[in-house]
Amino acid sequence: MAKRSPWHSKAPNSRKVHHDETTCTEGNNIESYNKVSGTGGYPKCDHCRRISG
Ligand SMILES: [Zn+2]
Repeated sequence: MAKRSPWHSKAPNSRKVHHDETTCTEGNNIESYNKVSGTGGYPKCDHCRRISG
């Protein structure tokens, strides 16, 4: 599966998780202006976990 460096959302109402799978719909739904690279100290999102197994 495609991996990229982690990113997360800085939107105050977003879930406190980070993403690292390019196919994660939740990660891809983050508006570009809310996207921040890095984990932000948050756990990996459950969709990304499922994708990466
Ligand atoms: Zn994700």
